[in-house]
Amino acid sequence: MKDYVVKDIKMAKQGAERIEWARRHMPVLNYIKEEFQKTKPLKGVNVIACLHVTVETANLISTLQAGGANVALTASNPLSTQDDVAAALAKGGVKVYAIRGENEKQYYENIESALKIKPNVTLDDGADVIATVHSKHPEYLKGIYGGCEETTTGVIRLRAMAADGALKYPVIAVNDAETKMMFDNRYGTGQSTLHGIINATNILLAGKNVVVVGYGWCGRGVAMRAKGMGSNVIVVEVSPRKALEAAMDGFRVMDMKQAAKEGDLFITVTGDVSVIRKEHFKLMKDQAIVCNSGHFNVEIDLEDLGKMAKKVNEVKTDVMEYVLDDGRRIYVLAEGRLVNLACAFGHPPEVMDMSFANQALSVKHIVENHKKLKNEVYKVPEAIDNRVAKMKLETMGISIEKLTKEQEKYLSSWSMGT
Ligand code: SAH
Repeated sequence: MKDYVVKDIKMAKQGAERIEWARRHMPVLNYIKEEFQKTKPLKGVNVIACLHVTVETANLISTLQAGGANVALTASNPLSTQDDVAAALAKGGVKVYAIRGENEKQYYENIESALKIKPNVTLDDGADVIATVHSKHPEYLKGIYGGCEETTTGVIRLRAMAADGALKYPVIAVNDAETKMMFDNRYGTGQSTLHGIINATNILLAGKNVVVVGYGWCGRGVAMRAKGMGSNVIVVEVSPRKALEAAMDGFRVMDMKQAAKEGDLFITVTGDVSVIRKEHFKLMKDQAIVCNSGHFNVEIDLEDLGKMAKKVNEVKTDVMEYVLDDGRRIYVLAEGRLVNLACAFGHPPEVMDMSFANQALSVKHIVENHKKLKNEVYKVPEAIDNRVAKMKLETMGISIEKLTKEQEKYLSSWSMGT
């Protein structure tokens, strides 16, 4: 009996080629894979992974398998699955349940199918498996050692659960590792978001007013890269410190109402709900383009926009046109879902190399230490974070300075002054 749900198993060859290409750009993960192959730290461990089904994720899955794990994979977003990758994984014997464009009902059915693996470890990108286990399938709790969370929004949800005493197993916030957040969130989102926008629209970024809503690690990356393409970048923020940082990084900072009037292209990366809504759509220019690279599809209030529109047309793949009463047209990319994964390939392998090295080593950490862990949200152990940074530098051929004895002494002394 076939134990997978994929679009077309015949796409496996193309998927396998692309997975191999990504593998060649993920040297740290490859190194861990070799180590896992020898030491088998995950022998017999059942893992459910609810991640974007991409070439990079495929390489994480094979690393876990090399360590001895049995893996079931399901998508963490209905629009981010690369169907050729799903096919290649299914052909290689992975239990994979993911089809690009699946509806919400299928999305959750696929999570349920993957749960049948009876997980010992859960990997999430947005906490959907953890939420499903806690709310609908508590019978799996007793088998679970712990979980890992890949993304900012998931970590926020889990911290709220832990604070309420509702979290029933330990979780490692992989997102918060420095070798994840500072690279994946910043350089990954920066590049892949522009890639997605260009793929969907092919607009010229030079000379455009690009409004970046949210100046966390993701927003910083998007703003930096849009500036590099010649856009006039405007940042919208709620945090005084981040707004100040954006201003001193050289961007114009203003509130959303003002930005709504000036923007040609809007990119939300806040992790929050309804940051662009009715009052802003009212002020936008004709042909403004709106898209999201942050949490789920809630940052742009499409319900508001739908109600304001007299007509909605799909003008081309992934581009919806909302025609308003006064004739203005507003374009929404990828239904307000993550434009970088829906309209492009997500982050490039070189950054996912570090994110997924943290994942793989965190899974090993959970398996080895679960008896000592409490039902809390843990940071990635510093030793893992440092190791990933060191390995990445090595693979990039970069050597760094070492402190001299004199410098070490100087830095640890309070008595030496001028
Ligand atoms: N789960 C939510 C939001 C998270 S998306 C949703 O789907 O709507 C952001 C996460 O996607 C990041 O933490 C990043 O690590 C991950 N990601 C980005 N590019 C990826 C890729 N090529 N493969 C796998 N995961 C990727």
